[in-house]
Amino acid sequence: MHEHGETGSTPQEAPQRKGFMLVLSSPSGAGKTSLARKLLEVESDIAPSISVTTRSRRPTETDGVDYWFVTPEQFTAMRDRGELLEWANVFGNLYGTPKMPVEQTLEAGSDVLFDIDWQGGAQLRKAAPHDVVCVFILPPSAEALRHRLRSRATESPEVIEKRLAGAPHEIDAWQDYQYVIVNDDFDQSLANLRAILRAERLRRERQTRLPEFVAQLQQEL
Ligand code: GDP
Ligand code: ADP
Ligand code: 5GP
Repeated sequence: MHEHGETGSTPQEAPQRKGFMLVLSSPSGAGKTSLARKLLEVESDIAPSISVTTRSRRPTETDGVDYWFVTPEQFTAMRDRGELLEWANVFGNLYGTPKMPVEQTLEAGSDVLFDIDWQGGAQLRKAAPHDVVCVFILPPSAEALRHRLRSRATESPEVIEKRLAGAPHEIDAWQDYQYVIVNDDFDQSLANLRAILRAERLRRERQTRLPEFVAQLQQEL
């Protein structure tokens, strides 16, 4: 294997490309968290944005891994200090994206994965229209969504019903997303998500060293 192709070109200091923000949104239970976790396992050069939330921790979750669990007071203090890139009230809890880790990751040339709701997606698109790629995840049917949310059983029956009742409204956002994945077969959905990531990385404007490379190529021809 030639590590750097036939020329064995030397690694340069500036990142090869500009990182972008990959946003996954869906009604609760459609599978975005499962897809996000798996994507992070199988792909490199992409890091999760770890949100702050006032929601209480589920037994399956780890502070600092799934979320930073904070009090409402801590949340408002961060927000008022301008430390959040976006924030929203989702089903009665506050969720927000800490700005600094995202900016640092993007500057280093890695992508950042977001598992955020449609309100957050809209705020990020508005803030950085060219650097945000939005993927909406749909369940294959109403029955599947009900079944997944209930069988996950991480919330109380009341919270589950509240989330199901909110699903039609959340789904309304689908037309604002560039990509849509109907999450029927999990592996197929993961493959589709990976295809989106790969294609977006190949966009001309994200390959920062191309102008230099092409100019040299032309000169040498
Ligand atoms: P989930 O539906 O199982 O992912 O339940 P969660 O309680 O983890 O998330 C509830 C909703 O809040 C989901 O729609 C998430 O996408 C959304 N969410 C999580 N983090 C953020 C965030 O930082 N900002 C915004 N705007 N929404 C978030
Ligand atoms: P979200 O983050 O969108 O609320 P989760 O990723 O927590 O959704 O998924 C909800 C439940 O559905 C979980 O129990 C998960 O294991 C299951 N699930 C996710 N994707 C699929 C799929 N393609 N087929 C069957 N079950 C799935
Ligand atoms: P504190 O005032 O308690 O130090 O911080 C407020 C909250 O922000 C805490 O819950 C803490 O975990 C979280 N926090 C601190 N540093 C970071 C960081 O680098 N990234 C994220 N996502 N959260 C952080």
